[in-house]
Formats: sequence, structure tokens, C-alpha cells
Amino acid sequence: MTLKSSKEYIESLRSLNLEAHIMGKKRDSLTEHELVSPSQASVAFTYDAALDPETKDLFCVESPLCNDVINRFSHLHQSAEDLIKKVKMLRYCGINTACCFQRCVGLDAANAIYSTTYDCDKKYGTDYHERFKDYWAWVQKSDLVIDGAMTDPKGDRSKRPGEQLDPDLFLRVTERRQGGIVIRGAKLHQTGMLNSHEILVMPTLTIRPGEEAWSVCCAVPTGAEGIRYIYGRQASDTRKLEEHRLDVGNPVFGGQEVMTIFDDVFVPTERVFMDGEVDFSGLLVERFASYHRQSYGGCKAGVGDALIGATALIARMNGVDKASHIKDKIVEMIHLNETIYSCGIACSATGQATPAGNFQVNMLLANVCKLNVTRFPYELARLATDVAGGLLGTMPSAADLNDPVAGPYIKKYLVANPEYDVVDRMKVLRLIENLVAGAGAVAYLIESMHGAGPPTAQRIMIGRQARLEEKIDGVKRMLSIDGKN
Ligand code: SF4
Repeated sequence: MTLKSSKEYIESLRSLNLEAHIMGKKRDSLTEHELVSPSQASVAFTYDAALDPETKDLFCVESPLCNDVINRFSHLHQSAEDLIKKVKMLRYCGINTACCFQRCVGLDAANAIYSTTYDCDKKYGTDYHERFKDYWAWVQKSDLVIDGAMTDPKGDRSKRPGEQLDPDLFLRVTERRQGGIVIRGAKLHQTGMLNSHEILVMPTLTIRPGEEAWSVCCAVPTGAEGIRYIYGRQASDTRKLEEHRLDVGNPVFGGQEVMTIFDDVFVPTERVFMDGEVDFSGLLVERFASYHRQSYGGCKAGVGDALIGATALIARMNGVDKASHIKDKIVEMIHLNETIYSCGIACSATGQATPAGNFQVNMLLANVCKLNVTRFPYELARLATDVAGGLLGTMPSAADLNDPVAGPYIKKYLVANPEYDVVDRMKVLRLIENLVAGAGAVAYLIESMHGAGPPTAQRIMIGRQARLEEKIDGVKRMLSIDGKN
């Protein structure tokens, strides 16, 4: 049994001694930093859930790789049932944290690398798969958090990696030394990077012949020499630095995105899982993206649950919950949210075994799932804003609530349904604000649009996977149409 407690997890982060640039200053002691610690609490939740008797059946699984019980967040899916359980697990985390809990990216990267290294070895006789198995068995046994690092800065989008004015705009191998390689570049928007023990670096797009230096996949510790971190801002993030927690909206949990610089980082050979095999780069990107598009069918539905719950509660607090148009709006929110979840379950239930033995999601349905996610949370946010009322954007601060002069006026004039306390009403409004316009909207809205690729990327995949010719042939057969006319 290798499961860590959340306390041991936070302690393990502390011992990494990572440093980051945050709001213009270089910071250490990140586990104590007000902007960072809520995001660590979200990841810590995934550790607690694996030890909780009520949820351990969902969060724990026997790993055939290390022959031990592990946290499902590092599992190589062995069946469609495993894929379904993953989606259920993410939904559970979503509703309980109402934010991004970050740990899924490494899980998705591992499953994609596992099957792709197998395929690559078959073609080229390389030994990437065995290397990766050794590495991942260690990750599972140590119950680690892994950052899956895919997104390069990409520079001028009309140019290939080698055509950029600065070739580092796509992460690349700059040197081959005895015993390993040296990589240079950056990965943007890294979810949970500073809450991770290790990084799985992957190419950002399909690499072509002649671009071998950019076709690299490897693992590096977050504390490796040459790595720098620059913390990403979130809307209203400095509310976390204020004395009163009420205005934060989500008082316990939060997300994290980090710009990560690789300034000539040495990677030993045993941690390299692709080095120049350009014809497998696209496959790796596609598989990873599909897993993460499936993930959204769980996590975004879970955060949607929190938004729906808050919206229904504020309707009661406002005394409008019996109005038919309010009930209808909440039903619409539920319908949209369950559609997202249905896609997550569907692409899991129709997943297939890869030649390597782990299970891959149905790529068509995973892309349909994510394309819905680029739209539905925005509509949920619009409906929540509608139901909550204008106070959502104009409410006085928690500091004024505690002011001896302003406070009593706020308490007098913000009374709505007398069954509910004014401060509780303010808490619910702040949570909704957090999700539709504050720090939580980074994960719930902007990330829903761009995380795991923007909508156009899903449209391309849907067009590719949909087997349109079969549909045309079916119609031709039915109508006895031969040839092209
Ligand atoms: Fe996990 Fe969702 Fe965050 Fe991606 S956005 S890391 S799937 S919680």
C-alpha cells in the first residue's frame, strides 16, 4: 500500500524547496504562500479521497504495473470500466472543490506515453516503453503528482518550429551528451506545475521530418537545475491576500497555472521516452488530447454541479425559487451539465484496448465531449448570472461588512428571504462570482475553451474520426446509387 495522506503530500512538496516568481518577487516556501496554498489544497483533496472509507473504492485501484494498491490518479487504465471510474472520480473532485484539482494532466500524459512508446519500440526497436514502465512504476509506488507539459509558446503561428526567429519557441533538444540530452524552451499554462513532483514533457504538435530536435518526450523532476517558474495571475487573485476570506468566493480551494522555462535542462537517458521519432509525435499529442478531453466530461460536470447548487440556493435565498422561469433555467443548467457528463461516460464506455494493453478513450466522442465543454459552461455561467441577480457584480466588500458603520446597513438592506442569513447569502453570491467572473472562471470558462486545445482542434478531430464516407456509402446503398453521380 503506497498511498500518502494529504499531510504527507504537502510535506513532500515542502521538501522540494521550489521557487517561483510571483507578482514581481522571487518566492520560496510556496506551501505557505496565500496565492499558492489553495491550489495545493485542491490536489491534497485527491489524496484524502483515496484514504476516505466512503470514496476509496473509486479512488483506489490495484495496479498490475507495480502490483500494489495505488491512487487512480496514476493508474494505467485496464478496461472501459476504469475509464468510466476516472470520469466519476473527476466529477466527485469537481463538485467538492469547485475548481481545477490539477492532477489529471499527468495521468492523461502517462496513459498516452505508455501506448505510444510501445508502438514506437515496435517500429524502431527502441526501448522507450520499458524505460517508461520502470519510471511509471516508481511514480505509482511513490504516489506522486505529475505535471503533463505539452503547450509550447509557438511564436508566429504561421511558421514551423525551425522557421521561428527564436527556435526555443518550441521546446527542443539542444545537445546530446554522454548519458542524456539537454532541452531548452518553455511550456505555458502549466496546470498544477508547482504542486507536482515531476514533469512529463511532450511535443506540442505533430513534428515533421527535418524537425527531429523538437520531437522529444521525457521526464524531469520539478526541482531540476535550469527550470524556472513564473506564476500565472487569475482574476481577483489578490483577494486571497486580504484579511477577510468571504470575498475570495471559494474559501478553501483554487487552481494554478505556471509559465515554465527549461533553460538547458539535462535529462538522463533513462528518462527519455522519445527523441527524434517524428512519426510518433502526432500520435502522442492526439492520444493525450483525447484523454484530457474525456477528463473534462468529469471535472467540468463536477464544477458545473457546484455552480448549479449555488444557483439553486441563491434562488431560494432570494425568494424566487418557486417561480417557473427560475425552475426552468435551473433545469436547463442541469440538462447542459449532464450532457457534458454523458459525453465523458460515452467516450469511456466505448474505449478500446491499445496494443500496449492500456485502454484508450473513443477519440470521436472525447472530442465531441470537449467541443460541448467549449460552449456549455458559458451558458451555465450566463444562466447562473441571470438567476443570481445584479448584486453578483456590485456587492460591498467583506471589510465593509465588518465595519461598525457600514456593516449594519449591509445587514439591514441585503436581507432577502428571512429564513437565510445575510452573510450566508453573500457567501453564495461570492462563490458564483468566483466561477463566472473570478479566479474560478480561469478553469471553468477560459480553460473550458482552450484547455486540451481550442474548439477548432476538436472540429478537426471530429471531421477526421467521423467516417463520413461510410455514411455516404450507406445512403448510396439505400438509394441504389452507383458511382459518383
Ligand atoms: Fe483535471 Fe479538469 Fe483541471 Fe484538467 S481542468 S487538470 S481535467 S481538473
